[in-house]
Amino acid sequence: MITNWWRTITNRAFTGGQKRVPVTPVWIPKTEGKRIKKCNICGGKTHFDLTRPIDNLRETEVCRQCHAIMRNMDVAQVLLLKASLALTTSLREAGIILGQMNILELAHGGAIGGVLLDVPGYQSSEYFDDVEPGACSAAGIRCEDVQALTFPENHFDFVISQDVFEHVPDIKQGFSEIWRVLKPGGYHVFTIPYHRNTPHSVVRAAMVGSEIKHILEPAYHGDPVRSEGALVFTDFGQDIRVILTGLGFDVELYEHYYPAPSGGYNVVFCTRKAQRE
Ligand SMILES: [Zn+2]
Repeated sequence: MITNWWRTITNRAFTGGQKRVPVTPVWIPKTEGKRIKKCNICGGKTHFDLTRPIDNLRETEVCRQCHAIMRNMDVAQVLLLKASLALTTSLREAGIILGQMNILELAHGGAIGGVLLDVPGYQSSEYFDDVEPGACSAAGIRCEDVQALTFPENHFDFVISQDVFEHVPDIKQGFSEIWRVLKPGGYHVFTIPYHRNTPHSVVRAAMVGSEIKHILEPAYHGDPVRSEGALVFTDFGQDIRVILTGLGFDVELYEHYYPAPSGGYNVVFCTRKAQRE
């Protein structure tokens, strides 16, 4: 049985309205607890073992070809949807169409970047402590601080970020910068660790001048750039939707409930740059 595990919450959710949308990846059930799925990033066929004893499939590697994990594929699915591309295709197959768009990913070297690297309008960046924003590292990776992007305004059709904003000290400034560089009608498709049952976001750390002030016990996430990990500044709760709306975005949340027995949950935020009055 093919199940729709997706649902979306729009701004109407603030008043209690919710709806399900058919954004279902094509899952083909198989015996022995495994399913075969077409990877929506590289286009390869991949096996997805549903019987692993883990808590949340969000971080589980699914594709053995491009090493995409589930949340990468969730982001790709919303990207395909918002680019008006067939949901049965993949980013690799859609490369010619995506190449006509300007896309910024606030990370370098992930599964999505791996297949879009040679697409003309695609750019990726990382934040390095020791590289001037706008310049490139010794490895040729562009440095960008999302709180002060060096790109012109109204430039990108899509900005992608995956588990980045919990590490940004000033989230309002960061999201405002995304708003600035997006074209009117452009989208920021992103994930954050989102505590869906918590009303208010929690600030764990803040910048005071150039010093980090820890408000709660420091928490770090794995970081390909920093061996010590990346400090978490914010634990996000429901009020992030209000913050984003206040900055001028139309906000949609695409929720993905992963199937039993492992289960788990992911949400992809899709914010659209609305015209300011
Ligand atoms: Zn793949």
